[in-house]
Amino acid sequence: MRIGIPAETRPGETRVAATPETVKKLAAKHQILVQSGAGSQASITDEAFQAAGATIVGAAEALGADIVLKVRAPSDAERAQMRQGAVLIGMLNPFDADNIARMAASGLSAFALEAVPRITRAQSMDVLSSQANIAGYKAVMVAANTYQRFMPMLMTAAGTVKAARVLIMGVGVAGLQGIATAKRLGAVIEASDVRPPVKEQVESLGAKFIDVPFLTDEEKEIAQGVGGYARPMPADWMRRQAELVHERAKLADIVITTALIPGRPAPVLIGEETVKAMKPGSVIVDLAVEQGGNCPLSELNKTVLKHGVYIVGEPNLACQVAADASALYARNVLDFLKLIIDKEDQLAIDREDEIIKATLVSHGGDVLRK
Ligand code: NAD
Repeated sequence: MRIGIPAETRPGETRVAATPETVKKLAAKHQILVQSGAGSQASITDEAFQAAGATIVGAAEALGADIVLKVRAPSDAERAQMRQGAVLIGMLNPFDADNIARMAASGLSAFALEAVPRITRAQSMDVLSSQANIAGYKAVMVAANTYQRFMPMLMTAAGTVKAARVLIMGVGVAGLQGIATAKRLGAVIEASDVRPPVKEQVESLGAKFIDVPFLTDEEKEIAQGVGGYARPMPADWMRRQAELVHERAKLADIVITTALIPGRPAPVLIGEETVKAMKPGSVIVDLAVEQGGNCPLSELNKTVLKHGVYIVGEPNLACQVAADASALYARNVLDFLKLIIDKEDQLAIDREDEIIKATLVSHGGDVLRK
């Protein structure tokens, strides 16, 4: 089969859906068509792809392949160059109904990798985890860069410098990596999440968990989440959490927010009153900015100074670690491909497979996810 890897065209997107490592594994059985320059922003040259067995082609040939590997959903212009019946694999926004309708109308068999279920067999295909891990790391790096003081405690001849206090809101994959990274830099860390198992994870990394007690069975039940993801908490619990967080944020130097609820706007966790109460020169990095933000004052693609606090609204921080983000993403994609290519190296989409069912958003002209 012909497998195409086009260059990403979405502004700010630096990643690529295959690397020489994954191309090498595929090239023994398939014709791999990599668009010239596809890896340039991830420091992968055309020559490196070629040495791994790829043929370097133009956009039309890469997009016209039988299977197209992408990072982000194709633009109208890209879709127009794809074949009816082609397979498309990428982070395709499974909650964007219009986008899925367009892919269905183009006759694509489109797999949205964000929808991979959180089961053991699918762990190696979990793009949300591989990219969130990187974003959590980079969020701390960006915060440390913006913050005008040290992260670790220092005792010097010129006196002592206090360790930075870091508050992490939302401790999924990104938040856990944020804690681990801030810890390595010597910060003192507190964290909050709705899901009860998180407390133990936070403490095992040497951070303090901000406990917001559950006062009703309903709160306790909702906090369990579904499929490893959080659900929106009742207003009363959110109010109690906000009160506690307000007090902790007043003491914090850096706040990193990562809280998401699939298919919904991000929950507001650091309101304007809390920002006003924070120390001058403190920093908020809002990883949820693209989903509306955990802080209503964050602005997409900008670092703003509000009430004396720097608020960083960079979406897709994984794009700033393009080489490793591509390497991990490409391995996720390779593992997913194994699921839809049979022993004879032919396309075989098993519609009964749990991972296929969850990720196949359009097929044969039909929209499969609403
Ligand atoms: P996510 O990106 O959807 O959300 C980030 C975090 O925000 C979550 O921990 C969520 O509970 C939290 N959150 C939501 N509302 C909040 C609020 N009001 N206050 C505070 N926090 C709030 O989550 P994620 O990073 O994708 O991971 C969620 C969980 O799934 C993690 O425990 C992760 O380890 C687990 N996971 C399991 C598998 C698997 O079993 N295969 C794979 C990946 C992740």
